[in-house]
Amino acid sequence: MKIRFWGVRGSIPTPLTPNEIRRKISSVIERVTPQDLVSPEAKERFLAHLPPNLFGTTGGNTTSVEVRLKDGGIIIFDAGTGIFRFGNSVAKEQPTPRVFHLFFTHFHWDHIQGFPFFTPPAFDKRCTIHIYSPVENVEQILREQMKPPYFPISLDTMQADIQFHHITEPAVHIGSATVRWRQMQHPGKSFSYRVEDSEGAFIFATDTELRDGDFARTEENRSFFSGVDVLTIDSQYTLDEAIEKYDWGHSSYSLAVDFATEWDISTLVLFHHEPLYNDNKMFSIAKSAGWYKSHIGKNNVKILLAQEGLELSL
Ligand SMILES: [Zn+2]
Ligand SMILES: [Zn+2]
Repeated sequence: MKIRFWGVRGSIPTPLTPNEIRRKISSVIERVTPQDLVSPEAKERFLAHLPPNLFGTTGGNTTSVEVRLKDGGIIIFDAGTGIFRFGNSVAKEQPTPRVFHLFFTHFHWDHIQGFPFFTPPAFDKRCTIHIYSPVENVEQILREQMKPPYFPISLDTMQADIQFHHITEPAVHIGSATVRWRQMQHPGKSFSYRVEDSEGAFIFATDTELRDGDFARTEENRSFFSGVDVLTIDSQYTLDEAIEKYDWGHSSYSLAVDFATEWDISTLVLFHHEPLYNDNKMFSIAKSAGWYKSHIGKNNVKILLAQEGLELSL
């Protein structure tokens, strides 16, 4: 399976500010030497050696992550603003995919605000969108979001065949993959999902405040959290903030590292970034997570910072 990150930011979309762009350009100019400009290759080499906080960005769209299964099946987690780019990108593929499986972790704004803009698929009558959640009234929630004065057109304007699925069973089968779910600690609750097929297992667990119960070696936890190749988890806070914002429903990057090492997860993706943090801060957090990992002597977990455009293959 292939995992693609279309929206990685928490709480509110966070575009790069003009000042941040100026700062990046100015820092790049300070680094360049005449030798870096002697040929196109030298220029490429120079760019490739720039730190990621200068030559790149984490991205400002809110939560939306695609999982492309081996058989071509498409699963999307959450419809934050990132789903807009996904929709436009997938429509250009040949042959164009027409069936989508959209799972919601919960219904805070940053996870649903892209749904009315899931174009073109939601407005294409050849498309089918299956929507899943362990919450019963998803259809009503999404209808409310698209009512005046919040939005000019209703959900009925969407031409796609939209089918709502209230998940009551422990697993949903999509082609050759199985999707299981687990309730997490978050105001109003949220759900994490584990996708698994013959290629591996991926957990998507955004908006979650990790608690002792998540570390407990119960049979249920073991079956959900162990044997995972990639874990994408909420790590919005630094440790200080996590203490200060206890019960706000998010985790610190250090707790995310503890959790990944506890369950022997191969790759940890830090996710749901704080909107007040710029790229400098985000990449320094990723570095700190790496130091913390070495400090606790758990070097077997690979740590990545979720960035728009990041692709991972299992
Ligand atoms: Zn959120
Ligand atoms: Zn939330």
